[in-house]
Amino acid sequence: MKLMDCHVHIPALNQRDLEVMALSNVKAVIAHTSEPEVYKDIPSQSIFDFAERMVSFHAWRAAKYYIDVYVCTCVSMVGVPVDYEVALARLPEFVKRPDIIGLGEVGFEPNSATCSDLAVQEKILRAQMDIARDADKTIDIHTPLTDKPKWVDRYLGIIAEHKVNPAKVVIDHANETCVKMITDAGCWAGITIQPFRKVRAPEAAQMVKAGNMDLILVDSDSGIPESDSLAVPKTALEMKRLGMTEADIEKVLWDNPRRAYGIA
Ligand SMILES: [Zn+2]
Repeated sequence: MKLMDCHVHIPALNQRDLEVMALSNVKAVIAHTSEPEVYKDIPSQSIFDFAERMVSFHAWRAAKYYIDVYVCTCVSMVGVPVDYEVALARLPEFVKRPDIIGLGEVGFEPNSATCSDLAVQEKILRAQMDIARDADKTIDIHTPLTDKPKWVDRYLGIIAEHKVNPAKVVIDHANETCVKMITDAGCWAGITIQPFRKVRAPEAAQMVKAGNMDLILVDSDSGIPESDSLAVPKTALEMKRLGMTEADIEKVLWDNPRRAYGIA
């Protein structure tokens, strides 16, 4: 069986994580941008340096474990550069590169340490909706920890206003309060398994089984907060315990992320 973890922050995965992931059938990860290495007063250049480092160094590191790394870049809401307009001006050309598969993760985060102004965050989000649409790349949108249906509703409005194809949108960190809202709108619902999100593999497997399996993704969001690099393999096990076939497990945990991000 092949599995993909379609939302990781790859600098947080050490060699031991990569080894156990490889031993658990994880054959690929999608690496997203959040805080590019420095926390505050980030210059826009650091976003592009961070993407280059994922494409080169981190992909090389993971290849030792036969794990492919696909890279998304963006101006993340938690890593907003002081000169973010420079980054937004450069992104349309940068994301055309074939080794950049999408924009992520973008969205609103009220607790951002680099940009607490939600109006500025909205401006950055809307600009990146246009960039993703024009480049025909997938965009991954983060939902804040609480009031998820409220945020999802706001995102669906913005997606429609910017005429972004819902099939190219992942609304991530979905839980039981919003998975159906997201898939009913034709977007991909990314279920994130992380201790502080109070979603574990058994709950994720239940959500997959009860939901629209054509539009659900599962990820670990492995990063700075406490995470589980085995979140996706554990979900595969729980799906099996619910009586799901290996074909359905591989469809959700391997084929779906490839379809969502247009990976050949
Ligand atoms: Zn993330």
